[in-house]
Amino acid sequence: MEYVERTTSEVIALLPERFREDKKVCAYLERVWEYTKKAHAGQRRRSGAPHSEHLFCTAKILSKLGMGPITLSAALLHDTIEDTDTTEEELTRLFGEETTLLVLGVTKLKKKKNTLKENSFKTLQHLFSIAARDPRVLIIKLSDRLHNMRTLEYMPPTKRKRIAQETLRIYVPTADRLGINILKQELEDLAFQYAYPKEYAQTVSVFTKRLTQCSTNITNASQTLSDVLTKRYARTVHVQLRTKGLYSFYEKLERKHGDMDIINDIIVIQIIVATISDCYVALGYVHALWQPLPGKLRDYIAFPKPNGYKALRTTVYIKSSGVVEVQLFSEELYERSQSGYAFDFAHSIMPSMFLNKQSYKISSMIRNVLRKRFSRRRH
Ligand code: MN
Repeated sequence: MEYVERTTSEVIALLPERFREDKKVCAYLERVWEYTKKAHAGQRRRSGAPHSEHLFCTAKILSKLGMGPITLSAALLHDTIEDTDTTEEELTRLFGEETTLLVLGVTKLKKKKNTLKENSFKTLQHLFSIAARDPRVLIIKLSDRLHNMRTLEYMPPTKRKRIAQETLRIYVPTADRLGINILKQELEDLAFQYAYPKEYAQTVSVFTKRLTQCSTNITNASQTLSDVLTKRYARTVHVQLRTKGLYSFYEKLERKHGDMDIINDIIVIQIIVATISDCYVALGYVHALWQPLPGKLRDYIAFPKPNGYKALRTTVYIKSSGVVEVQLFSEELYERSQSGYAFDFAHSIMPSMFLNKQSYKISSMIRNVLRKRFSRRRH
């Protein structure tokens, strides 16, 4: 397969829309892209792709999460210190401290004397200590790992298993704790396949069988619900179906000792409305249409999960399809349920290094006030 390097405009297109017209931001990202392409020139991935393809794909995953220019730049530069002649000092001089710290966080520590195990332990320790200063480093690391998992087939089989197990043990729980559901689900399903191939194959066959059994009925039910809501309620509402991930299905099946009949969330109905109060109104319509099961209503809006997840959940009995779970979100809550902690960064304002001096002064004034208050509290 022939690989063509990505163009600058493809890289610029990764920026959130509000940054794409900003000349300073675009010039910075362009400089980062030119630099990293040159630094990695001639290096190839095992798939045969130029290394820059891995950098671009990592940044693309972050772009889907809505991450801004600094995070995208760090993603494009994330292998420079590890795999090229670039030094920390050079990166700081060219691209600033903020970006460099993020790159350092995802850089592997290698000492020849240590075993592989010692080195990967030290690397993780280093990653988490930098994450305490800037948590975006974790989101970059997870995206880097996701692209490595997507291309794991090119690795030798012995390495595949070790990497997949490490993904399940460390990166999946991290993504879960940060509430970044999109990353979590793809990471665990890919890792599942390589870490436990036999169980994976079994799960696929059980899962598909069950899915074909219930999908037609549930599609009809969700159509009915969608009609009722649009007709009687007449506000923005979107109804969709979501299938469970394979690994989380497998885990649940293990927990329930293989009893498939009590797993009601292979396909769930998701309702997305404009505001939080609309969630409660729509819930009323759901319960009027179908009988809710007692004790199954979960109000994660009033009582969010520890990772910040907020939604309403109920389980109802539908004559044609049996027991079905229904989840309700506002648009914002839905987005947050997908990208979790990354959502907060995605909606943050312009990074200070791109601000003009006037506004920078103001933000440093606020910082000083905060610092004073903070130190006073400590005494
Ligand atoms: Mn990488």
